[in-house]
Amino acid sequence: MANKTELLKNIKDEVLNLKNSPLYSYRTENKYFPVIGEGSHDAKIMFVGEAPGQNEAKTARPFCGAAGKVLDELLASISLERNSVYVTNLVKDRPPENRDPEPKEINLYGPYLKRQIEIIQPKVIATLGRYSMKYIFENYGLSSVLASVSKIHGSAFTGTTSYGDITVVALYHPAAALYNGSLRAVMKEDFKVLQSHM
Ligand code: URA
Repeated sequence: MANKTELLKNIKDEVLNLKNSPLYSYRTENKYFPVIGEGSHDAKIMFVGEAPGQNEAKTARPFCGAAGKVLDELLASISLERNSVYVTNLVKDRPPENRDPEPKEINLYGPYLKRQIEIIQPKVIATLGRYSMKYIFENYGLSSVLASVSKIHGSAFTGTTSYGDITVVALYHPAAALYNGSLRAVMKEDFKVLQSHM
């Protein structure tokens, strides 16, 4: 059987050649890269954001811009090393001007996220933002508890995967702290729920 690195490399190669994506021409015209994900292939905790921003699309690294700084700070607040977790996004290519991902983009890129989850088999999935929250809750047996992020942030739910039960935690998107400073303390509190799973 192919190892995790090879299986993840296959995903990268496929996404690189995803010519039927509505975001493909925008990527190539701007010399952007798809952002597949980064971190430990044996991570217990996987963070799933929404879609790459400009910094990410320029470097092929998830959460490396302003929102990434907030994420790094939140990880540091619970002494969680970024290289011990896996960080990825629901949509792998940057939507123009950071607009919200469209349903057809989510349908196209979502299966790659599912494959990443099957390969890495995290015990905890922490969603960063409402689109990744909706996708993960709907695909891992948690539709009935899905609500707005403002209602369920920081709560742990038990989801179902092919490899067993997992813990799913909905978190605010780190960029929210950039628009609403008072959320930073709430987010730090929410991150503490991950501590019992480290
Ligand atoms: N916002 C996201 O949702 N993902 C990134 O990788 C960067 C910013």
